[in-house]
Amino acid sequence: MKRGQYAVIGLGRFGSSLAKELVDLGYEVLGIDRDEEAVDEMSDQLTHAVVADATDEEVIRSLGIRNFDCAVVAIGDDMQASILTAILLKDIGVKTVVAKALSELHGKVLTKVGVDRVIYPERDMGIRVAHQLVSPNLLDI
Ligand code: ATP
Repeated sequence: MKRGQYAVIGLGRFGSSLAKELVDLGYEVLGIDRDEEAVDEMSDQLTHAVVADATDEEVIRSLGIRNFDCAVVAIGDDMQASILTAILLKDIGVKTVVAKALSELHGKVLTKVGVDRVIYPERDMGIRVAHQLVSPNLLDI
């Protein structure tokens, strides 16, 4: 297994920003989205980018994601797709699965299906900005 391989599923605002940053940090990133336009936009910035429905087990298996260090489920609005993808990734044996949740309940379900780390981007960013606003070093913003 090669070190530092990440799969980012869902190349919306959050997923694409995360994927680009991982590439800038020197990691290999496979981006997946069912929307061809989203994939086209990212294809020259990521190591690989493919158009695929992440809830399709055959597709996920054929991409070899089980050997990746980490897979991030960055699907938000389509909660069903987010949960199915997360289950699938854990089932095929991905060691670390991180998933974004849009609500506490969504996050609870993701935890119950075995997701290793649930993130709440909007909530966490709100907290971070509040801390930055009251910090003496406003230049950090
Ligand atoms: P963001 O705020 O990051 O833009 P969001 O929370 O609005 O995203 P969505 O728009 O639901 O989340 O999903 C992000 C991306 O995930 C979209 O580009 C969408 O095409 C993709 N996506 C949704 N379902 C699937 C799926 N089953 N397989 C692959 N990609 C998917």
